[in-house]
Amino acid sequence: MARLTYHLRVPRDPLSDEQREIRELVRQLARDRIAPRAAEIDESHEFPWDVVELYREHGLFGLFFEERHGGLGTGTLLALIAIEEVSKVCATSGLILAVQSLGSLGLQLAGNDEQKDRYLPRLASGELLAAYALTEAGSGSDSAAMRTTARLEGDEYVLDGSKRFITNAEVAGVYTVFAKTDPDAGHAGISAFVVDADAPGFEVTRLEPKLGISGSTTGELAFDGCRVPAANLLGEEGEGFKIAMRILDRSRPGIGAQALGIAQGATDYALEYARSRETMGKPIAQHQLIAAKLADMETACEAARGLLYRYGQLADEGEADLTKASAQAKLFCSDTAMWVTTEAVQILGGYGYIKEYPVERMMRDAKITQIYEGTNEIQRIVIAREMLKESRAFLLAGVS
Ligand SMILES: Cc1cc2nc3c(=O)[nH]c(=O)nc-3n(C[C@H](O)[C@H](O)[C@H](O)COP(=O)(O)OP(=O)(O)OC[C@H]3O[C@@H](n4cnc5c(N)ncnc54)[C@H](O)[C@@H]3O)c2cc1C
Repeated sequence: MARLTYHLRVPRDPLSDEQREIRELVRQLARDRIAPRAAEIDESHEFPWDVVELYREHGLFGLFFEERHGGLGTGTLLALIAIEEVSKVCATSGLILAVQSLGSLGLQLAGNDEQKDRYLPRLASGELLAAYALTEAGSGSDSAAMRTTARLEGDEYVLDGSKRFITNAEVAGVYTVFAKTDPDAGHAGISAFVVDADAPGFEVTRLEPKLGISGSTTGELAFDGCRVPAANLLGEEGEGFKIAMRILDRSRPGIGAQALGIAQGATDYALEYARSRETMGKPIAQHQLIAAKLADMETACEAARGLLYRYGQLADEGEADLTKASAQAKLFCSDTAMWVTTEAVQILGGYGYIKEYPVERMMRDAKITQIYEGTNEIQRIVIAREMLKESRAFLLAGVS
């Protein structure tokens, strides 16, 4: 029964006055400082350190941390809203916030007090940027196939192997890295480590050119006898896979928020364009086929927002089992982003396809949200697996 009440409670704007003020600040910064940089960030393919500086100045990295660790302690829902607001104008800049959370969650969820004290305040201030390194060239969806190993030697672990497609490679000061301490034990052989960017034997060996989110770095990490203090093991040996999945349960909605921001930004842009572009003697917004597209785009965004904010509320209420709600939010927001941005390009016609207008960037940026932090095929598997754990027989009791 408890679960049903959660489904029913989605107030329109569940934020407190303080949270609304922070949302306003983020909106203003996004509009005045980040939006004018978005096209340049996309074209230059350069990591936007000025945006990081802006977040530092205004304490925005603190949104992802508790007060006792130097954060704002304002909760998950507001953190998602901040990512959404920034991503309306620049998906790369939204991702910087989302990955600060992704890369720090291992410490927050599984770190001991000493590890938390050592890292979290510097992550909350943004002095350090974070990254999460699970994927390898041969293991993306199938993490158990990872080949990076870690063996204990005295009071250090020695890591050997490589990671691929790691966001924030080269710009991060600290990486949450997964490696096998028992290579024959499948998932149960994986352990999680905190690795400093200057650890001996650690190197970023390449950065990938990509379709979208061009200002974000995506890189290959090499561990060649990389020495990490034993005190940097998160949890116990063998707990790495569970930690990785707990992190993803909490981080995937951040990608949902990025996706929703992109979708809403594209909808807003297409609406304004359709108001002023005339064909056959009237604004295209008054042609019913275009009006229907706008209506469907807006409705999809609202539906996606419902799932995303519901997740945020569940997390803030302390709900322990977030797996299904998290996967649903990520899946629906990202599919919405891909579909909505494609429609936005269509509404702009030929102008939609050229770089002078932002919707082509938004369409390219949207695609990655269906792929990273677990592809949408994997999200569907996760959701169906959770459904199979639920019993609904009581609902059918009277059905003949
Ligand atoms: C820009 C970018 C940034 C990234 N950032 C990070 C990061 O910061 N940290 C990190 O660890 N990783 C990161 N990744 C990696 C990303 O999470 C993986 O690429 C993704 O999980 C898919 O893994 P894969 O590429 O190996 O595809 P594969 O696992 O090889 O999948 C290929 C296709 O098969 C499908 N598939 C696989 N298994 C199944 C199945 N059982 N049933 C049905 N379909 C299946 C997939 O959905 C996909 O369509 C990033 C990737 C990119 C491109």
